[in-house]
Amino acid sequence: MQLVIIGPPGAGKGTVAARLARRFGLVHLSTGDLLREASAAGTALGAETKSYVDAGRLVPQEILGEVVAERLRGEKAFVLDGYPRTLEQAEFLAALPFAALDAALYVAVPEDEIVRRLAARVVCASCGAVGEGSGEEAACPKCGATAWEARADDRPETVAERYAVYMRDTEPVIEYYRGRGLLLQIEGTGDREEVWARVEAAVAALAGDDDNG
Ligand code: AMP
Repeated sequence: MQLVIIGPPGAGKGTVAARLARRFGLVHLSTGDLLREASAAGTALGAETKSYVDAGRLVPQEILGEVVAERLRGEKAFVLDGYPRTLEQAEFLAALPFAALDAALYVAVPEDEIVRRLAARVVCASCGAVGEGSGEEAACPKCGATAWEARADDRPETVAERYAVYMRDTEPVIEYYRGRGLLLQIEGTGDREEVWARVEAAVAALAGDDDNG
């Protein structure tokens, strides 16, 4: 199965993608994580893209496209989280010979909810895993560290920029997939378990369809 996840910043794409990957045995590729890791490791890609990520702007497709293609090459089952974010990227993905998407999952969350969630979001200072709520005290479920911090690009002015970029560049991608009969819209409001139950049911139905040919 091949999926992409689209939604505004703070919709819960990363959490949903990680759970989908475990539940359905998919490779999880998050372009945001990939770029944050490259920046933390000080690679050439990280150096080239850090200023875009810090400002909440999109990294140019000329830089990111080949990286994504390289990571996905040979993978039959994947969930792509945070890509595509523009029509250009959607068309690039569609043209990759090994990509044949089963669905584009659109996690819909209203703007006021997004602002509230991002203000409260904390990530593990050691590995970047997203916390369960604000002011975490428990150990990170992924790496065991106990230091939590706000994500650098969750500052209010950067959130405003990321949301504006989303409305301008990424909303057309939703219509692109709707027009191709691939859009699977999920209500992203409510708590994590509620959202996950909706996602799991929708994707399980899709996987069932897949099995039946
Ligand atoms: P995310 O973790 O998905 O919110 O992504 C964090 C940041 O990484 C974004 O604000 C962009 O600067 C950059 N980024 C992630 N995915 C893409 C993409 N598909 N195209 C361009 N920039 C991206």
